Amino acid sequence: MEKSLKNYNTFKMDVKAKYIFELTDFAMFPKILETIKKEDLPFVVLGQGSDVLFTEDYNGVVIINKLKGMEFSEDLNYYFVKLQAGENFHVAIETCMKRGIYGLENLALIPGTAGGAPIQNFGAYGVSFSDFCRYVEVLDLKDNKLDRIWAKDCDFGYRTSVFKSNPEFKNRYIVTAVELKIPKEWTPRTSYNVFKNKEFKTPKEIFDFVCQIRQEKLPNPKDIPNAGSFFKNPYVSKDVFEKLIQKFPTMPYFETNDAGEVKIAAGWLIDKAGCKGLKMGNAGTYEKQALVLVNYGDATPQEILQVAKFVQNKVQETFGVLLEPEVRIYGSTTECQVNQ
Ligand SMILES: Cc1cc2nc3c(=O)[nH]c(=O)nc-3n(C[C@H](O)[C@H](O)[C@H](O)COP(=O)(O)OP(=O)(O)OC[C@H]3O[C@@H](n4cnc5c(N)ncnc54)[C@H](O)[C@@H]3O)c2cc1C
Repeated sequence: MEKSLKNYNTFKMDVKAKYIFELTDFAMFPKILETIKKEDLPFVVLGQGSDVLFTEDYNGVVIINKLKGMEFSEDLNYYFVKLQAGENFHVAIETCMKRGIYGLENLALIPGTAGGAPIQNFGAYGVSFSDFCRYVEVLDLKDNKLDRIWAKDCDFGYRTSVFKSNPEFKNRYIVTAVELKIPKEWTPRTSYNVFKNKEFKTPKEIFDFVCQIRQEKLPNPKDIPNAGSFFKNPYVSKDVFEKLIQKFPTMPYFETNDAGEVKIAAGWLIDKAGCKGLKMGNAGTYEKQALVLVNYGDATPQEILQVAKFVQNKVQETFGVLLEPEVRIYGSTTECQVNQ
């Protein structure tokens, strides 16, 4: 095992990887792919490592995507913004706003790259990456060529996409760029609860408001290492929802999906199960937002997993609802679950 991944994941897990490549240029691909093929190693691509937990040393190749570049074009009704995968999405939003391109402001301050955005279809405050995605550009390792996967084929859902759900995609494609399609006519998206009873006249006002509430509610990984929401908000059947809301009338819930299920707030469930501000060893849940698991200093992956399991069990016992991780968890060669 060669190098530490500590500076490449926002949980600051001090695990090692057999090889780490910082990909700054397309010309580096052949060497990286040769290493993967020659030793028949698994690989994982990281952007800012803000949605991953490594549970042990990774016996494979970690590619840190640092491909940079932004291109802008337009037609009568839309702006088209092509971002190389290593661009920080928040910086891209700021750059768009400086150019008078508005619409992305609800996604401000999510600490990820453009290449990471389509994988879990990141989103916040009622807006998701899929609302603006035109296509995802990929390096196809099977056919050895650059390709485009159009948004309609990405199977985007709540914190998921074909890149996450289809096992074949996981080992076949490396995202090299994304293109966004942004309507020229700006529509404020303020249906989410946090915007209630507030008036927003400009995109900048929404951007500033989103930044302010995120800074108030969420720990900055530079101060308290974390990977944002550790669990997804669960969808439950209408029947289960009716029973829960009768027993817990103040339980927040959001929308229904195509299957008629209702999304409920995982942070609230964790809080009411008595796990907000929990501390177990060097790990715990954040005192202002229970959905965020935190590393209070030199926590091991096992300490984070221990908290995750504890929270999962408590929520299951209290509400009969199983929380699924939003964060992607990696063992020595493959992705795994909290209980493995
Ligand atoms: C403080 C904080 C707040 C957060 N808030 C939110 C939020 O509001 N909403 C939200 O959705 N998420 C949030 N997150 C989680 C995270 O920032 C997002 O999921 C983001 O999209 C991850 O981007 P990344 O570049 O860091 O991806 P990484 O963590 O590096 O990777 C995540 C997954 O994507 C894959 N991947 C990354 N880049 C590529 C690529 N180029 N090609 C192929 N696969 C790739 C990785 O292999 C991995 O499986 C938050 C995280 C933190 C720390």
